[in-house]
Amino acid sequence: MNTHLDGNVLAGALGEVFAVDITTAVAQCASCGTSQAMGQALVYTDAPGLVARCRTCGEVVLRVTRSPGRTWLDMRGVRCLELHVPGE
Ligand SMILES: [Zn+2]
Repeated sequence: MNTHLDGNVLAGALGEVFAVDITTAVAQCASCGTSQAMGQALVYTDAPGLVARCRTCGEVVLRVTRSPGRTWLDMRGVRCLELHVPGE
């Protein structure tokens, strides 16, 4: 019995998630466990892309790198991300 679907099933859910304002999302830091709005993170722009650090412990929570037509998102520093989905 086949228990999985292909990646196309993610399109609807991820399209909604990343259409919201990420700055209002509450991220729990994987290092210290503090939860804070992404808009409260300390963001450094003097690196390739943007580097967001936890305001409490200083560890990297998120990296975003862009090039024409592509975005790389590294969120290994976020244990959990709470997003407010409009209309629900
Ligand atoms: Zn932290």
